[in-house]
Amino acid sequence: MSLSEIALLKTFTHYFLHLVFPVFIALVFFRNNWKKAYLLMLATMLVDLDHLFAHPVFDPSRNSIGFHILHSYYAIAVYFLLLFFKGNIRIIAIGLLFHMLTDFLDFNLWIH
Ligand SMILES: [Zn+2]
Repeated sequence: MSLSEIALLKTFTHYFLHLVFPVFIALVFFRNNWKKAYLLMLATMLVDLDHLFAHPVFDPSRNSIGFHILHSYYAIAVYFLLLFFKGNIRIIAIGLLFHMLTDFLDFNLWIH
């Protein structure tokens, strides 16, 4: 595979995990109100707003996890604690943790 093909595959995987995979999570765990669960998980993408405080805003050679404030290990610990709540908060917690997993894989799964 050429470098540009790898970059394309990486981008595809990233958006697949961010946008499509939560549909499966919603259908499996929140079958009765999967649309709401999906939208709540999509909303957790807002944590990427913390990138705006970094220079440069996006750097492919930088790992988001442990760098940006809402991607810090402290933040992840808080997201984990949110799992113990019920209802919407738990859905948001799952979305946030899955977001962190996606960002983690995005950095660690690929040679760069
Ligand atoms: Zn992120």
